Amino acid sequence: MDVGVIGLGGMGQAIAENLVKAGHHVRVWNRSPGPVEALQAKGAEAAARVEDALQGEAVFTMLADDNALREVLLTSGALERASKNLVHVNLATISLGFVEELVAIHKDLGLAYVAAPVFGRPDAAAAAKLNIIVAGPAGAIAKVQPLLDCFGQKTWPVGDDPVRANAVKIAGNFMIAAAIESMGEAAALVRGHGVAARDFLEILTKTLFASPVFQGYGAIIAAEQFEPAGFRLKLGLKDVRLALAAGEAANVPLPLASLLRDNFLDALAHGEGEKDWSALARVAARRAGLDG
Ligand code: NAP
Repeated sequence: MDVGVIGLGGMGQAIAENLVKAGHHVRVWNRSPGPVEALQAKGAEAAARVEDALQGEAVFTMLADDNALREVLLTSGALERASKNLVHVNLATISLGFVEELVAIHKDLGLAYVAAPVFGRPDAAAAAKLNIIVAGPAGAIAKVQPLLDCFGQKTWPVGDDPVRANAVKIAGNFMIAAAIESMGEAAALVRGHGVAARDFLEILTKTLFASPVFQGYGAIIAAEQFEPAGFRLKLGLKDVRLALAAGEAANVPLPLASLLRDNFLDALAHGEGEKDWSALARVAARRAGLDG
């Protein structure tokens, strides 16, 4: 198929590469040129303008946040110049309010909008192991399913309203952030009593918490290997804020998310925004006087 990919950060690069590998004609656009050149070397075509990536049968957007998507597709006017057959599949984690706005804008323009936020980091994207939460018009989803299969291990449909897919993604990331926070605090607790974080996390993640999130992030926390970031801490804060906003919109209190927001701000204030979001664990360690 003729496909566009807009946003070639850690996730978008790996996704575009898998689409190229599967034999699709992939046009890529990114704000900074480096990732475009890297994808060109692997067989993608560089889109000179954003709208050049919007002329095929489908486009995937994997931009950082609401603002980036708004600037690139709406403020620029590019979406208005998209091919009328286009299915827009937005893979990024964005606010529920913006999803509603995007649904209305696409409807006005006669374009299909599918929300397909993903669970899994860039290594999972490269290995085609993402779990994709999808919602939107059934026909549009069916059309892009073979493309989703190029980088996902499973697609989880949650209905025809795109808001639902993003609600699932935001709630899931809230759970991951809470898991990181609990590991950070518990690791600080045992360290305060002479037990190494590595030993503690090995026991817990091989027994009571033997699940991918605890094992993956537990290993990073134990090794204190927060760079390079798989998922940048400042984007983690974005997602906690999205959870708080989504809760507010439905009168759902999220006291734990409020606590997480403040701890993410603490990490940002200590210059850790570009590190992996598991560096949130350092906040608890610092408070316990265990490291700087
Ligand atoms: P990333 O590596 O930080 O890449 C961000 C992308 O957005 C880059 O292409 C960047 O362009 C672009 N961008 C940012 N601000 C922009 C602006 N104002 N105008 C134009 N382009 C802009 O992020 P990522 O980790 O790939 O994440 C992308 C999305 O996927 C986010 O919504 C994130 O929450 C979600 N997500 C991430 C993961 C993960 O583990 N990393 C997993 C699931 C979902 P430049 O290259 O020019 O900076």
